[in-house]
This record gives sequence, C-alpha cells and structure tokens, in this order.
Amino acid sequence: MADVLVLVLAELDGGTPTRPALELLTLAARVGTPVAVVLDEVDQDAAEVLAAHGAARVLSVVDPAFEAYLVAPRSEALDQVAAAVRPSLVLLPSTPEGKEVAGRLAVRIGAGLVTDAVDLDADATTTQSVLAGGWTVRARGRRDVLVATMKPNSVAPAPVEAPAAVTVEPFAVTISDAARGARITARDPRVASGRPSLTEAPVVVSGGRGTGGDFAKVEALADALGGAVGASRAAVDAGWYPHAYQVGQTGTTVSPQLYVAAGISGAIQHRAGMQTSKAVVAVNSDPEAPIFALADLGVVGDLQTVLDEVVQGLQDR
Ligand code: FAD
Repeated sequence: MADVLVLVLAELDGGTPTRPALELLTLAARVGTPVAVVLDEVDQDAAEVLAAHGAARVLSVVDPAFEAYLVAPRSEALDQVAAAVRPSLVLLPSTPEGKEVAGRLAVRIGAGLVTDAVDLDADATTTQSVLAGGWTVRARGRRDVLVATMKPNSVAPAPVEAPAAVTVEPFAVTISDAARGARITARDPRVASGRPSLTEAPVVVSGGRGTGGDFAKVEALADALGGAVGASRAAVDAGWYPHAYQVGQTGTTVSPQLYVAAGISGAIQHRAGMQTSKAVVAVNSDPEAPIFALADLGVVGDLQTVLDEVVQGLQDR
C-alpha cells in the first residue's frame, strides 16, 4: 500500500534519533510510506538514520515555542504538517507528552485516537494490552485519519533494504498566541540528568516506596552501571521522583538487559512495565515480596545498605 502515508513524530536526543523514533518508523513501514517529522533541527546524519529505518522524507520544523511552552505549539505544528502531507495514520511515542500532543492533534484534525498501542498491523489495526496485560484490545480507526501512540519497546527497530535518499526539508509553521498559553518556567534538573533515557538504557535501577524518598543510592547504582533511574508509582505519587521516570502500566514500559527493583513490592501494574526485562534483580527487606517471584536474583535486605555495598564493590573493581 505504497500510497498510504504515515506521519511519524520522530524525536532526537542530542541530535540523534531515539530508539522509539526508529521503532515508530519500523511500524509505519508496515502500513505504508513513512514521513518523519522532527520538531527540531536535523542534520544529514540523523536524516539518514531515519531513512535507513524507512523514512521516505524527513521534515524539520523549528520554532522556539516548542521548548518554551507546554505541548500546544507542537500539536498545532503537527496539524499544519498533517494538512500538507495528508497522512492516513500519524504515529507518536506513548510518552506523557506524546499522548497529550496526540489527543490535541486528533481533535484538531478530526481523527480517531488510540493511545498506548503495543502493536500495529499492516491495515493499521492497533493492539493494546490493558488491565496490566490481562486483556488485549484490537482496534481500527473509523475516521479518514488515525492518530496512534505506540509504547516504546513494542518492536525492534529494523533497517529497510533500500533506504530513500533524503535531504532534510525545512517546514515552516505559524504558532498562534492561543497555543502559547502555558509557558515553562522551570524544569526539574533530574529530568535532564545526563543519564541514558529510560526507554533506551541497557540498565534501569528503579526505586519504590522502600527508598523512603531517598533516591541517592538508587542514582549511585544507576550511574555506576551506566543506567537510567526509574521509579514506582508509589514513589512518584509521593513526589519523590518525576512522573517521567515512572515504570509500569501508567508509566513507561522498559525492556533493559538488567532491571534492578529496589524497595518495590512488585504490584501487577509495576510488573506490566518491566516484566520483559532480560534479567531482574530485586532488593527488598520483605522475603515474601511478590517481586521475588519474577526476579532472577533476589536480595533480602535494606536497600540503602545493599545498594551501597554493590556500588562500593563496583568502584573497587
Ligand atoms: P509498595 O507496594 O508499598 O512496596 C514497597 C516495598 O518496599 C515493599 O515490598 C517493602 O517490603 C519494601 N521495603 C520497605 N522498606 C525497604 C527497605 N528499607 N529496603 C528494601 N525494601 C524495602 N505502580 C507502578 O509502579 N507503576 C504504574 O504504572 C502503576 N500504575 C497503576 C495503575 C493503576 C490503575 C493502579 C490502580 C495502580 C497502579 N500502580 C502502578 C500502583 C501499584 O498498584 C502499586 O501501588 C505500586 O506499584 C506500589 O509501589 P511500591 O512497590 O514502590 O510500593
């Protein structure tokens, strides 16, 4: 179905396409011809990585409003891109921001909307895993256009056999005053921590209510292993860590080589976001904690002591 155009919101990290961006292109190529739109500057190397994963065109939209205001300018920009590209499907990452942009965009363009999909068929049927994996929902849009957000790690990024020769196409947009309603005044420094992103890190060290709010040891172990920091919803709800780091059903799905759960009981909603990790290590003071049922290695003890000893051991090596 070469005439079906799929618009993909491709995000960059430090100028390089993120893994979720390449996953979205891989899924888009199943349905039709992917057109990548980046709400940032794109260099030729990044454009070629996008092309290698299926992008037939790479559009770059640059406007200071994307960084300065909450998501409204981004959905307004995508609305204008969609009016020019006329896609049948728009794919975005299932991050909190991606979902909000998707919802606003769907309303603006009168599209159907599916969020948190984990798979996509060639006819644009989406699959969602709901109720912590207890049910699978398959859905198709009934409008001319479907906007769908896909959970990271739903598919392995796959290079295409014959990448298109792309040059970055600047795309000018006009951001209205109405979209500049909520200006960003401060950012949580932990969100720009310099650590690898939660969805891409080979190692994720997550802290739960058992940290008592002190994430220093969790962060120290993540740094010693070159990993990302995650958090349970209990820790996020307590205000101990930003929601962007929540792992689980209503947070991010991760699938690292190693997942360390520190002071996390292992509720089904948490497991929904990490149970495909290749190896799971759990540190918990309660030997009956449910997390031990899926852990490859369990350590019964106080996480502050255990994580400290592990960090010391790594530093002594
Ligand atoms: P708790 O369940 O309170 O567990 C804390 C653990 O720490 C205990 O096992 C305890 O033994 C251990 N502990 C205490 N002190 C120490 C210590 N000093 N050293 C070592 N261990 C210690 N949860 C998520 O995480 N992600 C989600 O996305 C999510 N989505 C949800 C969606 C819905 C609709 C609902 C209803 C719930 C959701 N939850 C989610 C919440 C989930 O049900 C649990 O409440 C939550 O995961 C519990 O977090 P926790 O394991 O940190 O806390």
